[in-house]
Formats: sequence, C-alpha cells, structure tokens
Amino acid sequence: MRFEDLGLEPKVLKAVQEAGYDSPTPIQAEAIPHAIQGKDVLGIAQTGTGKTASFVLPLIDRLSKGRAKARMPRSLIITPTRELAAQVAESFEKYGKYHKLSMALLIGGVSFGDQDAKLQRGVDVLVATPGRLLDHFERGKLLLNNVQIMVVDEADRMLDMGFIPDIERIFNLTPFTRQTLFFSATMAPEITRLTEQFLSAPVRVEVAKPATTAKTITQKVVHLPNGNDKVKRDVLRKLIADTEVQNGIIFCNRKKTVDIVAKSLQKHGLNARPIHGDLAQSFRMETLQKFRDGETSLLVASDVAARGLDIPEVSHVFNFDVPIHSDDYVHRIGRTGRAGRSGAAFMLVTPGDKRAYESVLKTINMDAIEEEDLSTFIADLPAASDKPKRTRNDRKSARGKKEDTEQPNSEATEKPKRKRRSRKEEAPETSPESAVAEQAPAKSRKPAPQRRAVTGIGQQSEPPKRRYKDDLGENKVVGLGDHVPAFLQVPLD
Ligand code: AMP
Repeated sequence: MRFEDLGLEPKVLKAVQEAGYDSPTPIQAEAIPHAIQGKDVLGIAQTGTGKTASFVLPLIDRLSKGRAKARMPRSLIITPTRELAAQVAESFEKYGKYHKLSMALLIGGVSFGDQDAKLQRGVDVLVATPGRLLDHFERGKLLLNNVQIMVVDEADRMLDMGFIPDIERIFNLTPFTRQTLFFSATMAPEITRLTEQFLSAPVRVEVAKPATTAKTITQKVVHLPNGNDKVKRDVLRKLIADTEVQNGIIFCNRKKTVDIVAKSLQKHGLNARPIHGDLAQSFRMETLQKFRDGETSLLVASDVAARGLDIPEVSHVFNFDVPIHSDDYVHRIGRTGRAGRSGAAFMLVTPGDKRAYESVLKTINMDAIEEEDLSTFIADLPAASDKPKRTRNDRKSARGKKEDTEQPNSEATEKPKRKRRSRKEEAPETSPESAVAEQAPAKSRKPAPQRRAVTGIGQQSEPPKRRYKDDLGENKVVGLGDHVPAFLQVPLD
C-alpha cells in the first residue's frame, strides 16, 4: 500500500512525502480511505502506530475547501493532555504546510487572551484539552455548532483521568451531523458506551497492540532482598554503568520517587532529568526537547507523564518500580526495541512486588523474566544488610484481605478506582494529567461545596487531593497513623 492509494489530495501527499514516510502504517492504510469519505471511524490503536496522521491527514483533506467563521471552529481535536495536544498541533503544521488552514491550540498554561484572539479570527482546526475547551465555551468565546469533524484521541486516557463526562458534554455541543474519528488504545465498557451513543455506523479499525512486546527487546529483572530505596538506586546505577546506555527512560510509580531518583542520578554525575505531572509545563516541555535532542540521556518518568508522548527510540528502559498496572509494563518497555532495533528493559523487583510482578508476567504471557544476577553486588551494599525497610507494598501484603483491596497492584481494584476518579478530586495544576484537570468541566466547575478537612483551629482545609494512579496511595493516610511516610524512609545518598 502506498500513500497515493489512499485517496488523499496532492498537497497532503506532498507534505507526507516531505515528512519522509515511505508507506502508510496499518492504522493509516485502514482508517484514511474511510475518513476522507466522511465516515465515522473507531480506531483502536496505541501511540506509536501512526494514529495521529491517520486522523490529521483526512482532516486536512476534508477541510481544504471552505472557510472558518469567527468563534465557530470547523473541526475539533480533543486530547487528554497538553503535551499530546501540542504534538497533534505539530503534526497538523507538518502535514498541513501546503494548506492555508488556521489552527488554534486551547490548552492550559497559555493565556486566554491569545487563544481568544485566534478564535475570534476563526479557526479551521481547534486542538484542545477538554477542560480548557469548556472554559472557553462557558465564557461565551466559542460555539461548537459548526463543527463538521470531531476527533477524540486517546479516549482510554480520558477515562483514566475522569474526563468522560466532559467528552459527552462536548459531543452534545456539536451538531449530530458531524463526522467523528474516535481513537482509543483499549475499549473499556464506558468507552464502548460512548462510541455507541455518539458514533454513527463507525468503521472499526483495529491494529495490533505492540503488546506482547517486540522480540528485539531483551527483558531482565533484578531481584532485590528488600524494598530499600537506596539499594534500588545503587542497583539502578550499576545497571546503567554495566550496560551501554545511549539513552534511557527510568520509570517510577510515584512522582516523589521520580524526583528522588533523578536527583540521585544527577548527584552521581549522570545526565538525568525528571518528568512528571507536578512539574511546570515549561520544564516538562524543555525536558522532552532536551531528551529528543540527545542533550539529556536519561529521562526519569512517571507513567502518566510519559504515556502517549512521541519520545524517540531509546536503547534502555529501566523499571525502577514494578508498574502498578501491568499494562503499563508493555507501554514502558515498548519505548525500546522499535522498528527491529534491539533494546533492553530491566526491572527491579522487591519481595513486596510479588503480586504486581505476577500480574506483569500474566500480561506478557511469560512464566518468568530472565534474571540479571546482581546478588554479589547487592550483598556488598551497606544498605542491603540493613533491617529491611518495609515498603507500602510489603506492609499491604502483610495486612488482611480487606486492606489488600486498596493495594494499587491489585487488578481487581483497578476498575472501581477508575470509576471513583473524578475531576473533583483533581487539583488544578500543571500536570499533563491535569492538563486536563485544570479544565474543570462545566458541571464540576460550579462552586464546589467547601470540603473542610480537620486541619486545626482557624486553618483552612487543603484543596481535595488528586487521585492519579501515579500518586495513588500517597493521599490515604492523614497524619502518621501507623504509616511511616515514604520520605522518612528514604535514605538520601
Ligand atoms: P503516533 O502513533 O501518531 O504518535 O506516531 C508515532 C510516530 O510515527 C511519529 O513520530 C510519526 O512521525 C511517525 N509516523 C507516522 N506515520 C508514519 C509513517 N507512515 N511512516 C513512518 N513513520 C510514521
């Protein structure tokens, strides 16, 4: 199959050619011909499959005729995070360079004034995160009743982040005659319901998960005697030193761990930068750029910050923590070993990770992952002989079944947790996850009833804490209780 066979118009083809693509990816080959005919498309595909071009190219093609009216965008692309929105906007600029289509990017962290001015001039394509879009709508700066094409990208992430009600609302604000291109990596029941409600006889296009991971990836685990974080950091550095790391991503489950690991690596002279949702948007963008440019060789990341981003091929992935959701393991290690090149993925496994590790094995359909035997190295580490510090997971495994249900590693708890996550629980700030969070949906942006935590006489309560999966568990205990906070357990080296 060639791009020329997809029915795209010459100016789009020229831009694609200049992007250096030889042939369409499977999702492009299957989705584009239907999309340019105006049909609804339900694309089940992950990042890395070329899905962005599979909706941007037909969008440009279809919008090439016609003009935008003030405040009435002709098309709408909704993405869950600012970074993704920015990436889609970049793609639009790349593929649309021979068209005079106007675009506005509505994301948090950018002044309303500039965005309003663009909307006022009229835009063909509006790329937005849901909350910021609804903010503009509610301020009367935007009308959605001229939207001819609506794209929903990464619906599964929207679900994870509690944005399905926003998406429903946005759908309802657009004309039912619109064309809808809807993409999701997975089809949870809530997503299926959404597609049944808002898509009209969609063409279903499914491309294989880069799931059970490329054969070009060497996977290894290092078993650790306990959950001592200092030992984990020592082992991580040993792995980095022993392997020929050109560039690598180190995944941690919690933002706090991301910060600590990045700092520790920097202290030991390694070129590392953290990326997670509590860091300023400008810092995250700068980090990504430096990593793409090869200026930074190690990215220490949370899953939420890294997922969906077009991060270039890396030589190594290090799972500093066993992921809480086993699917994330596939996403994480899929960052290496792309396009037939070889890559290596290491994972540190502590006794407290037993269940999470088993869950990973089940997901990748393996009985075990080969062990990188560092027992001698570990035995010589002073901290390794310390009384094992009990990690959250250790403590949880030791507790009864009731508390076990709170264990983030439990697959069984994943669904209820997802359902419970709502915008109200998300603090407005600058995380990618909150790229969305900052955009409180209309409903939840009604003045929320003042929730007051007991914080002492005369003290204001803290705003409700977020419940993202990469900080799950950090907000559960008020005061010390029987829980020794992780920061007290972390021996800083
Ligand atoms: P996506 O899944 O849309 O995030 O795309 C992943 C990466 O694949 C991006 O860096 C695109 O530039 C690249 N890409 C998209 N389509 C093609 C293609 N047909 N051939 C080669 N690379 C592509």
